[in-house]
Amino acid sequence: MELLLVDQDAPDPDAIARAAAQLRNGRLVAFPTETVYGLGANALDPSAVARIYRAKGRPSNNPLIVHVADVAGARRIVAEWPRIAEQLAARWWPGPLTIVLEKNASIPNSVTAGLTKVGVRVPAHPVALALLRAAGVPIAAPSANRANAVSPTTAQHVQNSLPDADVLVLDGGRCEVGIESTVLDLSGPVPTMLRPGGVSQAEIEHELGMPIRRVEASDDGDAGRPAPGMSKKHYAPRAKLVRIPHGDVGAMARAIDDARRAGELVAALAIGESVCAAAAPAACVAMPDDPHGYARWLYAELHAMDDRGMTRIVVEDVPPGTAWDGVRDRLARASA
Ligand code: AMP
Ligand code: MG
Repeated sequence: MELLLVDQDAPDPDAIARAAAQLRNGRLVAFPTETVYGLGANALDPSAVARIYRAKGRPSNNPLIVHVADVAGARRIVAEWPRIAEQLAARWWPGPLTIVLEKNASIPNSVTAGLTKVGVRVPAHPVALALLRAAGVPIAAPSANRANAVSPTTAQHVQNSLPDADVLVLDGGRCEVGIESTVLDLSGPVPTMLRPGGVSQAEIEHELGMPIRRVEASDDGDAGRPAPGMSKKHYAPRAKLVRIPHGDVGAMARAIDDARRAGELVAALAIGESVCAAAAPAACVAMPDDPHGYARWLYAELHAMDDRGMTRIVVEDVPPGTAWDGVRDRLARASA
């Protein structure tokens, strides 16, 4: 692993050129996007893609998102580009929305884990965009961490999670969005949200002027899943994470107390200050009370708690409403 510091707003062309050459040579490059750090490979090269699965220990049935520089890049890898994709791309690209459509023959089956559809997006990060343009190929990139671990939102997280990987890491600072993209399948008659993320269901419905479908993660096994990579348990820290209903300060305090008495090293993640004051856990983080601020810091706090050896994380669940869906989904999966 090698770390290369780059200016997040105006990345050094020489550093980008080196990383792009590495990608074209079939090697791995980790790079910042606005959501989380990605572990990238040339999406057109099956042996490069295989390196991603090996480095992460990722199950082969979990498809990769393909990153492209612009709409033209997306159109080059899909069988058909419907008007609704054009509309949503115009509204959110570059940005945290992944669009799933039937792929064409240019994309190897390993990228899509054998599915006929591919997930594609244009990331909104100057380093990612510069890399895509310099490489001149679509970049397959899942989050740059060991499979099932918490995604990285800094280059340091990448280094901690994949210390032995043969990868060049572009360090472009902290990710702005902080959780993974929203994944939206546009291949059927009704748009279907496969994973909530940086763009909310309400925002998409407002843009389209119609309701969309939402598919929940499940434990039914592959057969019952609309798409792989939707298993309930995912994104989990090493510490056991338990959720308490939003606003129930008493229940938070009891959960913290009980765990402490059971010998756990307890951290709490609350919205606002009151819980921390009431329950005095070993560590308490008062998270922002807006979904974007919360998402931005969530993974960094989970990484920090693991680093400090916490064994139990008591989390105040987030308020109702689709604006919180992305964060709620990650908390649910981290505690599954
Ligand atoms: P990540 O490891 O965070 O990049 O997650 C990638 C996720 O995107 C997968 O686990 C799936 O949930 C989703 N995804 C990617 N490609 C597809 C696809 N072709 N069809 C359905 N979901 C996909
Ligand atoms: Mg991931």
